[in-house]
Amino acid sequence: MKILDLVRDNIKDLQPYSSARDEYKDATSKEMIFLDANENPFENGVNRYPDPQQNNLKDLLSEIKNIDKKNILLGNGSDEVLDLIFRVFCEPNKDNIITLPPTYGMYSVLANINAVENKKVLLNKDFQPRVSQILDSADKNSKILFLCSPNNPTGNSFTVNAVEELLIKFKGIVVLDEAYIDFSDKKSWLERLEEFPNLIIIQTLSKAFGLAGVRLGVCYASKEIINVLNKIKPPYNVNELTQQRAIVRLQKTDEIYNEVGQLVSERKRLKKELESCVGYIEEVFPSDGNFLLLKVDDATKRYNQLIEYGVVIRNRTTQPLCENCLRISVGICEENQKLLRALKAIQ
Ligand SMILES: *Cc1c(COP(=O)(O)O)cnc(C)c1O
Repeated sequence: MKILDLVRDNIKDLQPYSSARDEYKDATSKEMIFLDANENPFENGVNRYPDPQQNNLKDLLSEIKNIDKKNILLGNGSDEVLDLIFRVFCEPNKDNIITLPPTYGMYSVLANINAVENKKVLLNKDFQPRVSQILDSADKNSKILFLCSPNNPTGNSFTVNAVEELLIKFKGIVVLDEAYIDFSDKKSWLERLEEFPNLIIIQTLSKAFGLAGVRLGVCYASKEIINVLNKIKPPYNVNELTQQRAIVRLQKTDEIYNEVGQLVSERKRLKKELESCVGYIEEVFPSDGNFLLLKVDDATKRYNQLIEYGVVIRNRTTQPLCENCLRISVGICEENQKLLRALKAIQ
């Protein structure tokens, strides 16, 4: 499979915008004065345009994730990265994507925005991909297959065999969304990136890394794919404040791993308590994320009752295979105690 054959013709031919910082790259030279970008020269910390390639930030990520900088692209949240991927590979009103509901809602929204058909192949009852149905539903215009593992909202990870078979047999791009990978004891597919030229891995600093507010999404792929995505990304898509805050945070990985460790042990504790102490909870599904999906007697009733107790969770009952299911994010210990008290009080 030649990856460039999957790229839209207009993108292949595109002459990208060349910013002032692209044309003169060595922005750190002390002797230089910069009169090339029509910036306001009075220093206030953010009067200059940010580094369009976020080099310092990528250096840190490259070290933490043990991957070459050339395999990284950053975006204004994963949502921007996902949108860039749509626009590189999917011709509006012609191409299609495949998603596996119940899953993250943005794939479907972005498909609609980009006028790309979304072929839906439901997960099986164990929330695993139905590999042969997925491959059967693909046609010559199926450009992207979206896999979310650990999956939102179900919480489980897809089996290695299923993902591997799809990577090998699907004749398009496979986007593997690993937003929750840092909460999981399963291996990231990042270490196998080089084996699969059609693999794009998406991660985010919004969950385990605790930076939902700064909006930073990360994309890992072959240099070939990263280069095409770079052609179409807005030149300054990751702003200076985001870069600065992310750098500070990534220099304190011990803090991050400590928080993740606490959340994982709270998730385990919460799961046990929910299974043993609350009568109307019928099932608490296994989770590799920082949330739990549970099946109750009447999801909408329980959702509304919790609101009365000042606890807001997510009602997923309208999602396929999620009838009467609620999704609960794991909070800090005190918040989880308050949740448990409320859940017991409304028995
Ligand atoms: C939360 C989440 C994201 C993160 O999106 P950002 O735009 O980076 O905040 C991505 N994918 C999934 C499946 C998520 O649940």
